[in-house]
Amino acid sequence: MATLVFLHAHPDDEASGTSGTMVLAKEHGHRVVWVCATNGDHGTAPEGCTTPDEVAAARRLEAEASARVLGVDRLVWLGYADSGMTGWEQNHNDLSFARANPVEAGRKVADVLDEEGAEVLVGYDWHGGYGHPDHIMVHTVMNQAAEQAARRPRVLQATFNRDRQRQRAQEARAAGMDLDWDPDGPADDGNPMGTLEADLHWDVDITDVIASKRAALQCHASQSDVQSMLSMPDEVFELAFGHEYFIEEGLAQPMTAAWPFGSSAGSVPDDSPATVRVGDDRA
Ligand SMILES: [Zn+2]
Repeated sequence: MATLVFLHAHPDDEASGTSGTMVLAKEHGHRVVWVCATNGDHGTAPEGCTTPDEVAAARRLEAEASARVLGVDRLVWLGYADSGMTGWEQNHNDLSFARANPVEAGRKVADVLDEEGAEVLVGYDWHGGYGHPDHIMVHTVMNQAAEQAARRPRVLQATFNRDRQRQRAQEARAAGMDLDWDPDGPADDGNPMGTLEADLHWDVDITDVIASKRAALQCHASQSDVQSMLSMPDEVFELAFGHEYFIEEGLAQPMTAAWPFGSSAGSVPDDSPATVRVGDDRA
């Protein structure tokens, strides 16, 4: 058994980002820890919530429900405020995650890694997939935590596969869908979405557990972006979200469709891509 720590920016990012991988990790007998950096107080206000504190409290309950759906063993809150999207005035809140001291925030995550003896830390790519300031900070804090941990974990960066997104968008338009979305166009930070396939290392097929992804998202149904994901018919949802992609810097392999984390049953064959690593610090 290994322990995998997933660092996410907001409650609901675990569902939209890595929920399939989290469920598969549980199925493979691993321990799954979810570290949530912010309280999500600038998300869509759930019904009956008016103040940021009320929003944060409601989103905490939603996150706890999602954690139960996913079988998460431990949910850790870092307690930062939500920065909002690029350009929002909340970006300037000194308590926001985006403005956190990366060394201090990294220490908090490293403490979790140390307490857990974690083998794996999952965060985000260099621009958090689409440039949200709190998501960019996840990347920075992920690297800080890995450096500060007593034992350096494997570090995987969750991201979108831009080539696949482009292909899906083209297919949707060809099928007559009026889709006003271009993954190559500027996202929140002015950069295109995610990462090109040539720079990815892992393609995790989550279609067997796609119902769990939908169920986890359902726990966050107060959020408008989650609602738009849930509004997709099952077959479109599976096409859009049936794979989760990761960068693992230092791996020599091209993007490989395989389970990256082995199994508690020790059934990983020697020639599994999961054992193909470069560098002597990850044996
Ligand atoms: Zn987020």
